Amino acid sequence: MEFELVIVGGGIVGLATALQSLRRKPGLRVAVLEKEPVFARHQTGHNSGVIHSGLYYKPGSLKARNCVAGAARMVEFCREHSIPFDICGKVVVSTDESERAGLDELMRRGTANGVPGLRMIRIEELKELEPHCTGIAAMQVPGTGIVDYSKVAAKYAELIQQSGGQLMTSCEVRGIVKGNSDIVLETTRGAIKSSRVINCAGLHSDRILKLTGEARPYQIVPFRGEYYEIVPERRKLVRSLIYPVADPRFPFLGVHFTRRISGGIEAGPNAVLALKREGYKKTDFSLRDTAETAAYPGFWRMTAKYWRSGVGEYYRSLSKAAFTRALQKLVPEIQSSDLEPAGAGVRAQALDRSGKLLDDFVIVRSDRIIHVCNVPSPAATASLVIGEQIAEMV
Ligand SMILES: Cc1cc2nc3c(=O)[nH]c(=O)nc-3n(C[C@H](O)[C@H](O)[C@H](O)COP(=O)(O)OP(=O)(O)OC[C@H]3O[C@@H](n4cnc5c(N)ncnc54)[C@H](O)[C@@H]3O)c2cc1C
Repeated sequence: MEFELVIVGGGIVGLATALQSLRRKPGLRVAVLEKEPVFARHQTGHNSGVIHSGLYYKPGSLKARNCVAGAARMVEFCREHSIPFDICGKVVVSTDESERAGLDELMRRGTANGVPGLRMIRIEELKELEPHCTGIAAMQVPGTGIVDYSKVAAKYAELIQQSGGQLMTSCEVRGIVKGNSDIVLETTRGAIKSSRVINCAGLHSDRILKLTGEARPYQIVPFRGEYYEIVPERRKLVRSLIYPVADPRFPFLGVHFTRRISGGIEAGPNAVLALKREGYKKTDFSLRDTAETAAYPGFWRMTAKYWRSGVGEYYRSLSKAAFTRALQKLVPEIQSSDLEPAGAGVRAQALDRSGKLLDDFVIVRSDRIIHVCNVPSPAATASLVIGEQIAEMV
């Protein structure tokens, strides 16, 4: 059990990193360690499945650069490996005057980021694209697509194995000891030695960082995103993807409508603070996770700033009527009876001590270990490009 490179975490980012490392250096002795019995069980297997285009992100940021390039690579990869995808396009719609400036800003950012085909459309054009949607101004993003990221991750895993990489499931990393020449990972499958380590542990990436003895410059705070599904007989209300103008203070996109590649239309996700890092149900609770969040000074600073929005999110989480009202701003005909609960995902969102939710991707290099600290959405879209960058850093 000796490797040149070990990657902790078998989500889409860890797998893409292993794949790109092998492409860069064929024959590399690389292993991916995943604590679950299967890969892609957490964020990668619980997301909206959107191939984002890159209009939300600050020009020049890692998210902006990686999303635009990553989306093109994702489409190319799906084509090459016959993974079903659909470039169905999306509309972003402002529903009152206060959101108009936000929509203009998205246009400005999207144009600066080089998002292809972006354009403001008239309300009549919106009605042609999405007949049941209303608003006062709208933008069309024709390049946005949908895919199943579990399928993409499974293909990455298959290619890693074909290139001689080792995939180890049910292998949880519990300790890390740095020696002079090697790093020893203590795992539930025994000790594993490696010259280099990459931490792609998603919701646990800060804990892996702590195991290396380094100070945590941030903490992962879990935000659950809950979905409803539109009942089959009312799916006609939405053709592809309908988004609101997101609140620019948060790295979340606001509840929206998403067509799934498997069929069906989902509504969501919201963003509620989760009381368990891998807690997919409202009732899930972990004393360790909650105590750790509550003990972090950044959490209270964030709460002092944004408690009002947080309360609103909880209310919408507990009240289906309130969730429906948020959706009715975009599609007034949608009724509570049209929606059925459809699961949830939990975002690994990094928060710093000042109470700031880190907006951009954050990748930190230290002595022989690279920590992938913050890779929330659109990291699934951008996974091939992120993996390539990390492989270059190694
Ligand atoms: C609700 C929601 C909607 C989203 N929608 C989109 C979208 O539409 N488009 C998009 O591009 N992105 C989207 N994202 C973001 C995207 O899903 C994530 O950015 C991406 O999946 C992150 O991948 P990852 O590999 O870093 O994390 P994960 O998939 O969470 O993988 C991390 C892995 O590390 C493993 N692990 C943790 N600790 C250990 C340990 N000690 N030992 C071994 N293994 C360990 C975990 O079990 C897990 O499998 C969404 C995310 C959420 C939650």
